[in-house]
Amino acid sequence: MGDGSVKTGPAQQADELDVLIVGAGFSGLYQLDRLRDLGFKVKIFEAAPELGGTWYWNCYPGARVDSHCPVYQFAHKDLWRNFEFSELYPSWEEMRRYFQYVDEALGLSRDIVYNARVAAAHYDDEARRWTVTTEAGDTVRARYVSLCVGFTKPYFPPIEGLEGFAGPCHHTAEWPQEGLDFTGKRVGVIGTGASGVQIVQSAAPVAESLTVFQRTPIMCLPMPQRQLSSGDEAFQARLSESLASRDKCFGGFDFDFIEASYFDASPEDREALFERLWADGGFSFWLRTYPEVLMDETANRHAYTFWRDKIRTLIDDPQKRDLLAPMEPPHPFGVKRPSLQQTYWEAMNRDTVSIVNLRETPIERITDKAVVTAAGEHPLDVLVLATGSDAVTGAINDIDIRGTGEKTLKETWAQGVRTHLGVAVAGFPNLLFSYGPQAPTAFANGPSSAEYQGEHLVQLLKTLKDRGLDRIEATHEAEDSWNAMGKEIVNASLFPKADSWYMGANIPGKPREMLVFTGGLPLYLAQFQASADAGYSGFRLG
Ligand code: FAD
Repeated sequence: MGDGSVKTGPAQQADELDVLIVGAGFSGLYQLDRLRDLGFKVKIFEAAPELGGTWYWNCYPGARVDSHCPVYQFAHKDLWRNFEFSELYPSWEEMRRYFQYVDEALGLSRDIVYNARVAAAHYDDEARRWTVTTEAGDTVRARYVSLCVGFTKPYFPPIEGLEGFAGPCHHTAEWPQEGLDFTGKRVGVIGTGASGVQIVQSAAPVAESLTVFQRTPIMCLPMPQRQLSSGDEAFQARLSESLASRDKCFGGFDFDFIEASYFDASPEDREALFERLWADGGFSFWLRTYPEVLMDETANRHAYTFWRDKIRTLIDDPQKRDLLAPMEPPHPFGVKRPSLQQTYWEAMNRDTVSIVNLRETPIERITDKAVVTAAGEHPLDVLVLATGSDAVTGAINDIDIRGTGEKTLKETWAQGVRTHLGVAVAGFPNLLFSYGPQAPTAFANGPSSAEYQGEHLVQLLKTLKDRGLDRIEATHEAEDSWNAMGKEIVNASLFPKADSWYMGANIPGKPREMLVFTGGLPLYLAQFQASADAGYSGFRLG
């Protein structure tokens, strides 16, 4: 691990599996270990040469987790007992060290085929087997396929001339493993989502100049980063409590919205709460606040104003101030994913850092040495595409998936996603998803989703096995009611009011719909449990 070497495993010779998992991030790794323990013959096909998923691909300077580490790790098999993070918000380097530790502790790599990007999965209903083919042409047959492919399809904006840029030009999710030094360079960053923020923080202090191409200002919250001292027993002792609380909290963290109404609180109480949440840092101001902040325009506007006023005091230049924290909100607070910042505002104050407002002066084209907007040329040595991903469905739709009907899965979802419980689709028997559409996914801390949703899937497969069954398929009726429930919940919130990647709005032509279940992890798990208790209602078992 860590040397970029190609690894192969015994699955390349094996042609019959109980379960083929696609993807070796948190989701796939959890299922591999659990299913293996239960006696399933199971392997992972992974496109990368290493495990770690997100943290293999996103190795750009400054890439860092913004879930705090007590919850951003496995509770599984008490793995937390023997790994100490050095920072509260770990870097990508530390996440790689963590996955190496997990690999060694559980012996995962012996059942992972690396450098194996799955290109197609076709189902034979008579044989009740999926035939899965990699880009290299290797095939494997499996009774079940579990897609754990994450958000790994980077989005490249269709800008004229992008291919012709002469200097280094990389998407943050396909960063060169050998790294890239910004020192003394004229750096351009397109995009100000979470990755854009982290790149800006890293490039600004060393670059000769940094040009940030911004469409929408990001509502960053303070990251309360701190070093963790080795052998801090009190910290380690709290871990088990933190990990155990995740399935009871909306976002899969160890904290939740407060049980008080914004409208019952006095103005002084509201202000005091906001101040306290701000001082706590992290996602507190987003997910530990009054529930109405994400539901009601008045409460939300108050949160925005509070955020705006905090940030405006930090920005020296009046023009930058208006671009970064405008008086009028560009969209409601918190309905696009906030990011955590350490030195973003400081970086933006530097004379060497300029902001190009893409709303006023969109990018017209890219030449070999510059980004050209309506306002003129911005000469650059390095171009960073912090343009996000075709999130939630992109990596799934990249695979040619054929079930029992005429249409591929991508075609089935062309007008909008349909699933039951965010894990299965009618017409695609024995195909399961994790961290995918219509599940808590991006609204749940990643490892929490991997373990809690993953365990439901493991139990489902175990039940089938125990009962001597070998086929499961979502029903159309169950899809209808899951879709209706998801829509009802999201329509009561402010989420549809922003053009976010949650809504599929960052990808031209993608249906505009909430891709994620917004009812929170506890409600989602309760719904899954209710289905299981009723003999997996909403699924046809065979
Ligand atoms: P991933 O970790 O994305 O793993 C998916 C794997 O599938 C990848 O290894 C990929 O190579 C593989 N794959 C995809 N397609 C194929 C194919 N066709 N064939 C073979 N293999 C394939 N979440 C949080 O909760 N907190 C955070 O702070 C946080 N920070 C993030 C920061 C960044 C920069 C990014 C990009 C994401 C972040 N996330 C965060 C979300 C993060 O993706 C999840 O936390 C978590 O990693 C999801 O795990 P996963 O196993 O479901 O998917």
